[in-house]
Amino acid sequence: MSVSVRDALRMAARYLVLSILWLVLAGQVLDHLFDDPQALALGNSVSVLLWLLVSTALIYISRVRLLGPIGSGTRLRREDRQRLRMAEAVFDSTLEGVLVTDRDGLIVHVNRAFMRITGYREDEVLGQRPSKFKSGHHGPAFYQDIYATLAATGEWSGEIWNRRKRGEIYPQWQTIRAIRDEQGQVSHYVAVFSDISAIKHSEQELAYLAHHDPLTGLPNRLLFNDRAEQTLSVAQTHKQGCALLLMDLDHFQSINDGLGHTLGDQLLKRVGERLSALLGTGVTLARLGGDEFGVLLERCQQVGQAADLARTILEHMKAPFDCDGHRLSISVSIGIGLFPNDARSAEQLLRNADAALYKAKGNGRAGYALYTEELTAHAQQRVETASELRRALEQAELRVYFQPVHDLASGTRVGVEALVRWQHPERGLVPPGEFVPIAERTGLIAEIDLWVLRQACQQMVRWQAEGQALQFVAVNISSRLFSQRGLYLDVAQVLAETGMSPALLEVEVTESAVMDDPEISLEQLHRLRELGLRLAIDDFGTGYSSLLRLKRLPVQKLKIDQGFVAGLPEDDDDIAIVRVIIALARSMNMQVHAEGIEQAQQAEFLLEQGCELGQGYWFGRPVPAADLDGQ
Ligand code: C2E
Ligand code: MG
Ligand code: MG
Repeated sequence: MSVSVRDALRMAARYLVLSILWLVLAGQVLDHLFDDPQALALGNSVSVLLWLLVSTALIYISRVRLLGPIGSGTRLRREDRQRLRMAEAVFDSTLEGVLVTDRDGLIVHVNRAFMRITGYREDEVLGQRPSKFKSGHHGPAFYQDIYATLAATGEWSGEIWNRRKRGEIYPQWQTIRAIRDEQGQVSHYVAVFSDISAIKHSEQELAYLAHHDPLTGLPNRLLFNDRAEQTLSVAQTHKQGCALLLMDLDHFQSINDGLGHTLGDQLLKRVGERLSALLGTGVTLARLGGDEFGVLLERCQQVGQAADLARTILEHMKAPFDCDGHRLSISVSIGIGLFPNDARSAEQLLRNADAALYKAKGNGRAGYALYTEELTAHAQQRVETASELRRALEQAELRVYFQPVHDLASGTRVGVEALVRWQHPERGLVPPGEFVPIAERTGLIAEIDLWVLRQACQQMVRWQAEGQALQFVAVNISSRLFSQRGLYLDVAQVLAETGMSPALLEVEVTESAVMDDPEISLEQLHRLRELGLRLAIDDFGTGYSSLLRLKRLPVQKLKIDQGFVAGLPEDDDDIAIVRVIIALARSMNMQVHAEGIEQAQQAEFLLEQGCELGQGYWFGRPVPAADLDGQ
């Protein structure tokens, strides 16, 4: 029975009791007052009239008190109906799903958006419970928390994963509210929700993009650093070790420049794929930027374990990569840092692995190096040296030394090689091996090389004027300067400024610089050659020259690297290599020049084999120009 019917019955009962009481009491009072039947009848009529008046007044008062002024009821009902219609229209046109249950949790109403989002028709859900949509994504505690919050505050909102009719699980943002009746009892629950799977998806996509490299799909530096920090803190708690390997592709820049960025990108992708396949899922592999990759090896107790992994990686990089029909070969250099041996923090571990990588590159690439304490000192010195070098150039601390080159057959001096030195105010005379690689990294080498070239030309002009019988002065050009397209213009300018005859100048370029980027090298060498100077390939035998390419180069001389001369005349391997280089040079009509001759037997052996020129301590060390005659 509804509340209003009960109230009406209660009121009618009260009215009946009051009427009976009034009639009985009025009858008794009138009987007592009047004996005359006429007067009694009149009294009764007055009493009934009075009751009518009183009861009318009572009804009016209670009506006003309960329902407000007369006439407003009908207006109210009309407004209510209108409001209900509006609510229904809103319900149906809103994009949010709406679901209403009664106090027992049975669904009594759903809107159109509900059907669109869930895929259920109205008749499939009415009378059912919302648990029908459970996804299994949340445990019982989650739902208990919802009921508890609803009971305490009357409202809950949050993210909830439900299942569509098709079975798909999706996230909703839901607000549930308890509706109470006049007595304060919960009569209904209204849930309003929106499908937030699109937002979730873009959130996930954003998070993915922020933490992954789009080219290889591997974690990026940000995620790698994050993982490194986590791994280190886990390792610290469990008193375990871990290792960080930094990898850098050797001479990747020349692939990028020579074959284009599209192929360069493809190669990076292939390298990433091969590394992922090799390392599996237990290891974090990341592309840290450019051609640098990082590997985080958790639970690495011994150095040997990390070194084994480095060797395996080097081995797996050997097979060529198939990129758009091109078969590209590339080696990598690896630096290894260990925790807790070398580092206390993830940042330090990365820095150490970087120092080790630098060492691996310095050791001739295609290998790995472990971090050691002294590397930090080296790294420190590198930074200092880099900033000091500029000062050295500005304050004229650099010197040019000259080393004689002899004709092996006649024993006479025929030329000199200009070699740079740094007269450091505190460290004394610093050899180029300690600052040329740093100058190459910072780019300062281009200025240094041109400075040496100018000094050498000026000196040669002076010697010529003094009547010195020197056929050439050789100058070293670093790969960094060699890759600059305008190099020949700079050289031409120095020649013009110093008045040096181009025929007296020999430019030495290392084998690796020439072979790194064969197409650009070819153009560069031709331009230099057109100036009228001679070209030599320095440290020959240490790079991986393609004979076919070598033949096309406009080069007049091969300089046998001193590493092969050192073993002469006993070491069979060195003998074989030196013989091959000499034969090769002759077949291509090039001069052969051996470096690092320290003993007479070496010079003799080389002469026997057909080598024409020789340079080394046996003939004379590099010295300042003024001291050359004393030798
Ligand atoms: P390089 O051009 O192959 O020069 C020969 C190096 O071998 C010189 O070392 C020279 O002192 C050394 N040497 C000569 N004879 C002997 C010998 O009998 N025994 C031994 N053990 N060594 C000998 P240096 O002057 O220390 O130069 C090292 C390298 O530094 C050079 O190798 C060259 O690659 C580079 N370099 C020197 N000066 C310059 C420069 O002005 N510019 C550039 N870019 N690089 C330079
Ligand atoms: Mg040289
Ligand atoms: Mg050399």
